[in-house]
Amino acid sequence: MNAGATQAAAIPFFRPDASDPALAERMTQVCGDILRSGVYVLGPQVQALEVGLSALLEGREVVAVNSGSDALVLSLAALGVGTLGGGSADDEVILPSYTFVACAEAVLAVGARPVFVDCAAGSFLPGLPAHRQALGPRTRAVLAVGLFGDASHIPALADFCQAHGLLLIEDIAQCLGATGTGADGTTRQAGTWGDACAMSFYPTKTLGAAGDAGALAFADGRHAQQARRLRNHGHDAGVHHGLGRNSRMDELQAGLLRVALERFPLALARRRQIAQAYISAWDGAPARLPRNDAGHAWNYFVLRFESKARREAVAAELAAQAIATQVYYRQPLHQHPALVALQGSKNFPFSESLAECSLALPLYPALRDDEVQRVVEAVLRSTA
Ligand SMILES: *Cc1c(COP(=O)(O)O)cnc(C)c1O
Repeated sequence: MNAGATQAAAIPFFRPDASDPALAERMTQVCGDILRSGVYVLGPQVQALEVGLSALLEGREVVAVNSGSDALVLSLAALGVGTLGGGSADDEVILPSYTFVACAEAVLAVGARPVFVDCAAGSFLPGLPAHRQALGPRTRAVLAVGLFGDASHIPALADFCQAHGLLLIEDIAQCLGATGTGADGTTRQAGTWGDACAMSFYPTKTLGAAGDAGALAFADGRHAQQARRLRNHGHDAGVHHGLGRNSRMDELQAGLLRVALERFPLALARRRQIAQAYISAWDGAPARLPRNDAGHAWNYFVLRFESKARREAVAAELAAQAIATQVYYRQPLHQHPALVALQGSKNFPFSESLAECSLALPLYPALRDDEVQRVVEAVLRSTA
């Protein structure tokens, strides 16, 4: 162990924007104004945030909610998938096995059936062949996840869904700000390819709140209207033609997110700059680099190693140099005890291997150049 390195200040896996004193002051001021206003839930801040997010999503109507998890539930329900949305208990939704558990939870919560697909070889994302294989007479929708910030597979899935009459829900919790390019060469924002998209503003996402928050956006305003009802107990001008739940967003989170949204282009540019620094430094290193797509939003920078032992060794060496890492995800969804019964005997070898061999490194706008350099050198040493 290197004594000099251990004395260096720790590089956390995540550091909030409020670590910048000027930003912290701005955020404190916004919170003070909201506290004094006495309007705390679904007020002017939430409305203004919806307008700001709509501009980011090419004019799609946005509905702000309390979390990305509820955004997923409400997107499926508003589109009529599963019993909660007025669909059938036999409705099937195709989703990746290698993703966050909220994706499977949402499908189950609306009373539909999750059908998992494996990643493509050498990728964190599932490809078209896996979707073709999972397609059946009961398939209603595809849930496409822009894992780690990479939305490059979503345009092809949009074509696939259109060809087969399926709904497309984009989970852009990790890829808000990313773009994808269609077969005809058009480049569009992640979240604008499907019928609906779900966003999360959990603090570590590309647009982070200071707590839980999320949002949905829809291609069709009628679905947005349905989501507005569902997020607030089914209220429609005081009348309940249907019921819903409480998925409302707080004014404090909305106000803080408006501050984050102002500097979102800068934050995204900084993420891309750090990712390019990592990629150029580690090109040719024994670890496998993530796909370097121009539209990548770089929520997480995830390396792959040849074995679990190697991954654990690198993580331990970085920890010894006070550099935090994370594993997303230690188990693919189909192997969790809570979900294993859904898939029977199917195997998803690429997802299973990624869970053992992937390692996420610090990457966030507040990461300084000297810290990027320390991470670069530490990884080079540990993989030498
Ligand atoms: C974070 C995340 C969610 C859930 O968002 P919350 O705001 O934490 O509820 C859903 N899907 C993916 C892929 C995520 O990364």
